[in-house]
Amino acid sequence: MPDIPLLGPIAIADGVDQVRALGARVTVLRARGGVVLVDAGSRGSLQAIRAGLRALGLSLEQVRLIVLTHCHPDHAGGLAELVAATNAPVALHESEAGIVRGDEPTPSFLRRQALQNAQPLFDMFSGPPVDVQYPLVDGDYLPKIADVRVIHTPGHTPGSICLLAETQKVLIVGDALQYRFGKLLEPSWLFTRNPEEARASLAKLLDEDFETLCFSHFQPIKQNAHDALAEMLNEKQD
Ligand SMILES: [Zn+2]
Repeated sequence: MPDIPLLGPIAIADGVDQVRALGARVTVLRARGGVVLVDAGSRGSLQAIRAGLRALGLSLEQVRLIVLTHCHPDHAGGLAELVAATNAPVALHESEAGIVRGDEPTPSFLRRQALQNAQPLFDMFSGPPVDVQYPLVDGDYLPKIADVRVIHTPGHTPGSICLLAETQKVLIVGDALQYRFGKLLEPSWLFTRNPEEARASLAKLLDEDFETLCFSHFQPIKQNAHDALAEMLNEKQD
């Protein structure tokens, strides 16, 4: 049985929660410097995000920054409406900023050419172009927000990032990892552009000090998550 109401926010750690949006969860970080939202859900997610924040005792007006882990439509499609409702600036890895701004075409996020004809369906979840105030690179700290560091983990997409909330030792991984049926797994084969690169990025995460893993589509691993990742990568080598 889940330990949470089916549609309510999901507690991750002290000051870190998730709210449910369309297609993916949005992570809510109460950091020194203000409230940060990580990802925006698919287009049409605003109402769900507003309700989730309200359940946490927060409001859209309190949001100081919106960060995208990558620009897949289930994470970025709701960005324009979220920016309009919050007036918050946007940050994401510099290599995907042009896509969000509308300067570059949205690349297909399906790996198999055979499934390219599904692309128009996914485009429905995408939103209009949005300005990006903070293009990020590996090692950056989030602007005006204390103790949250950017780790570039390309593979799922070229600009995928993880965010390490250093104080809470929470690693927000977006789609860089899956956690299905109690098992930590590499990112979805179908939706990952470069699986070899994705695997190399996961190995790099072992250098970081974290206790909790927070995913976009799965329940969190709240404790001993570093050990779980080490174990998974170890098994892969055998
Ligand atoms: Zn994705």
